[in-house]
Amino acid sequence: MNHLIKGARVLGGDPADLLLKDGRIAAVGERLSATGATVVDADGLVALPGLVDLHTHLREPGREDAETVETGSRAAALGGFTAVHAMANTDPVADTAGVVEQVWRLGRQAGLVDVVPVGAVTVGLRGERLAELGAMADSAARVRVFSDDGHCVADPALMRRALEYVKAFDGVVAQHAEEPRLTAGAQMNEGDLSARLGLTGWPAAAEEAVIARDVLLAEHVGARLHVCHVSTAGSVEILRWAKSRGVQVTAEVTPHHLLLTESCAESYDPVFKVNPPLRTDADVQALRAGLADGTIDAVATDHAPHAVEDKESEWAQARPGMLGLEQALSVVVETLVEPGLLDWAGVADRMAVRPAAIGRLDGRGPQSHGRPLTPGEPANLLLLDPAARAVVDPAALASRSRNSPYAGRELPGRVVATFLRGEATVLDGKAVR
Ligand SMILES: [Zn+2]
Repeated sequence: MNHLIKGARVLGGDPADLLLKDGRIAAVGERLSATGATVVDADGLVALPGLVDLHTHLREPGREDAETVETGSRAAALGGFTAVHAMANTDPVADTAGVVEQVWRLGRQAGLVDVVPVGAVTVGLRGERLAELGAMADSAARVRVFSDDGHCVADPALMRRALEYVKAFDGVVAQHAEEPRLTAGAQMNEGDLSARLGLTGWPAAAEEAVIARDVLLAEHVGARLHVCHVSTAGSVEILRWAKSRGVQVTAEVTPHHLLLTESCAESYDPVFKVNPPLRTDADVQALRAGLADGTIDAVATDHAPHAVEDKESEWAQARPGMLGLEQALSVVVETLVEPGLLDWAGVADRMAVRPAAIGRLDGRGPQSHGRPLTPGEPANLLLLDPAARAVVDPAALASRSRNSPYAGRELPGRVVATFLRGEATVLDGKAVR
């Protein structure tokens, strides 16, 4: 079905009409008309390229009680995403061509976003020997991002070999930077507050030490490194230094690390338990500044659904992780757009253009993402009402899980519509199916 979007502000610019036809943007201009096209009134709405998430946990196969590819895809579409990278820590682990192709096929069946499987770096995420990286790259899923996320590739020799290996197919190793010897039993950020609450601390140095090591390795072997969920001011400093040297390193920050601080732990509500942990206000400010100046390339959700029995327990027993897909854009509006740190073009860059480039989804083909909203490009886009504000109600989320750290919080910005290759996946703020 063709759509004629009337009066959208593309990247926040002057109102224009967009005609979506046969999966592509056929025309952008004033007073367009098209017989038979479904008209979408976009008065006051901002049009952005469909968002691309580099870091989503869809839990299928293995924990379909927490999320499935379909429910996670629906949550993503409602958040304005048209592509998500599905992390490899499923059961079985996505460490073979067979498993990544299974996830890729489930994504195609759901048809709400492009589900791009991430391949494990090591067999079973055990950090002992490399998985079949080449076979996953050559599979139908065309894996380009490899990560043991949830675990750090802690062995430096293994990390070096992974970086060398992925160069052959222009892949990237996405590292969960956590020196495990420094975080044994860790429950929250290490500092005065963890001492006062009597919870074992997760020191910033455990993240920063691995990032420093890995940027040196990436420089040495000339490979692409991506750093997952950067959480400390010191990490931003190291990345800034590495980029100034020309190291091929990129990094992401999560919405929750842009908004929330360790003080959330004072409630002992396990919904705020996450890995890496929420940090200090100074870290939050450094992360916002790093994203604004481009030291941090992308916002990635680390959407981590958990079943009730895994999350609603005592803090120490609760699994780390929180939902993110449906509120990611709203958190970016709150923390960066409204304070004037990022304009709409900047949001498009950090949430669509750069993540698509990191995942190598930015080519010219019909499956590409993060492309400009100009004639001839695939019609992957969203319409946002920046003036709308709403209180987050976990019961209303499309995710199968309910562990939202934003429950009861009022956030700005409502995704009104999302289009994947010209087909509406969300209209009037509701999933089409
Ligand atoms: Zn992680």
